[in-house]
Amino acid sequence: MAMELKWIGFDFGQCMMDPTGLRNYLVIGDVSKDLGEPELIEERIHKYRILKEKYGSYSAVKEGHRDEIMSYVFDRREDARELFSAREQQHLLMGKGLRETLQYLKNEGIHMAVVAELKKTLGAMGTDIVTRFLQANQLTQYFEEVITPQGDIDLNTGSVDLAYKGKTKEEGTLYDELICHLAERGIRPSEGAMVGDKITTDILPARKRGFHTVQYTGYIDMGPSEADYTINDFVQLKGFVAKRVT
Ligand SMILES: [Mg+2]
Repeated sequence: MAMELKWIGFDFGQCMMDPTGLRNYLVIGDVSKDLGEPELIEERIHKYRILKEKYGSYSAVKEGHRDEIMSYVFDRREDARELFSAREQQHLLMGKGLRETLQYLKNEGIHMAVVAELKKTLGAMGTDIVTRFLQANQLTQYFEEVITPQGDIDLNTGSVDLAYKGKTKEEGTLYDELICHLAERGIRPSEGAMVGDKITTDILPARKRGFHTVQYTGYIDMGPSEADYTINDFVQLKGFVAKRVT
């Protein structure tokens, strides 16, 4: 049976954004060359690895301790910050079938938002990994907003609404806030769906609040869940999503 929807939220990391191509040592190498310091590549890769040991994974370092990459790995070179974000972006891929599916859903008249777990404070559009990715891949046109625990970015105006500040997907408080915003637009949770890879943040808390849920396993399969559907290619959404009229 098809899901009749007015709204879909898409998770970002390991869902819309596929980090398969990301090799952290390549990014460090690229940036060091950009800085004209190729002789420091090995030492910097080593320092980056130390940060990874300290925080558990490269994603943890990048999400929560980006400043230390600049201060410790890149010796406080201010120009490294922008170069690092730009070089990193070149290695990120789009989830399978994403653009084609977003175009289809937009044509259907379904409203869409990115619902991401961003830990870094928001700046101007294009300075965080999510809006930079949307811009680099010409995906901004498909979404109305980017909702994060740092605030909600309106993609038309670039303005940030701080109602979501401090609310998270895992605790579900971000979905509670989302439900209020959707209600103002006449959209109920049962007319919305959340698509994501992580069961504890994208599936369980959203489902508990009445959203339909779709587990994306195209990058990583987190195992069985109570999601309504499981997909490994976004194109599969076209098979069971229909616009809800009324
Ligand atoms: Mg994810």
